[in-house]
Formats: sequence, C-alpha cells, structure tokens
Amino acid sequence: MVVSASRDHACCNMDIKELKGGAKDMECKRRVMGLEGKSCRYSRLESTYREMAPKISSNVMDLEELVEYGQYNKICPFYYSRRVKDMMDLLFIPYNYLLDRNLARMYDINCHNAILIFDEGHNVPTCSRECSSFELSTNTLSQALVQLSALK
Ligand code: SF4
Repeated sequence: MVVSASRDHACCNMDIKELKGGAKDMECKRRVMGLEGKSCRYSRLESTYREMAPKISSNVMDLEELVEYGQYNKICPFYYSRRVKDMMDLLFIPYNYLLDRNLARMYDINCHNAILIFDEGHNVPTCSRECSSFELSTNTLSQALVQLSALK
C-alpha cells in the first residue's frame, strides 16, 4: 500500500517547508531538475523508488509516518508514492485526485478494475462542485468587457 498527497503535505525537504502550493511545486521541480545549481537531497531515480517499494510498503505507514521515513532514509515521499503506485494493491489518495479531471490526468490515476472506497462520502458532492468550479475576479471581467467593447 502507499499513501499519496500533494507536495504541500508529502514533501519532506525542510529547506522549502515555508513555501506552499504553486511556489512549492516550482521550487521542487527546479531542484529535481538541478536548475540554478539547486538540488533536493531526497530526490531519487525512478528505478530507486521502485526498487525500494517492496521494503517500504511492507510497513503500513500513514502520510506523516511516510514523510518521517523519507526524511530519515533520504527518499522523497511525494515522488516515491507517484512512481510506485502501479505496483501497489492499495492506494490512498485525496478525493480530488479522482474527481478533478485535470489532476486525475496529471497523476495518471487508473481506476480500471479498481474498487473505489470513499471515506467520509458525504464530502464527495462538495469536492465535486469545487473541482468543476472556478473563480473570476471582477477585475478580470472588467478587462474582458473593455477588450470586447474594442471589437465593436
Ligand atoms: S523532491 Fe520531494 S522532498 Fe524534494 S523538494 Fe520535491 S517534493 Fe520535496
């Protein structure tokens, strides 16, 4: 089994712990790609994650335990869970990885022949609504009106 979560929750690199969301994603990618002389000491080759999977998955770990394990053993919990998920019989993921079409595509979640269990299922409608909604600021709408009126 493996637990998956966003970098905000699964990253074990304390050097970037203050960053959140898109800023953390960007900094992580920079370090994994070794840009600007930066790196992440927890990042490993995909083959290493997969080689370590039988040993790691033999311990039942929740997300916090997986992050601690990653820190201690110098292996990224975020990429580990992504690189080995197809090797696992049991995958724990947040709702939105299934319900948000873009995230499901990005994380390559394959539900074929899978049994899906929704914990706290009463939250599914709210999560589905949020996954298919977006926000438009009045500023954006005003700019669109200005641009449209220029077309007249
Ligand atoms: S590779 Fe993993 S540990 Fe390193 S910055 Fe990215 S998410 Fe964090």
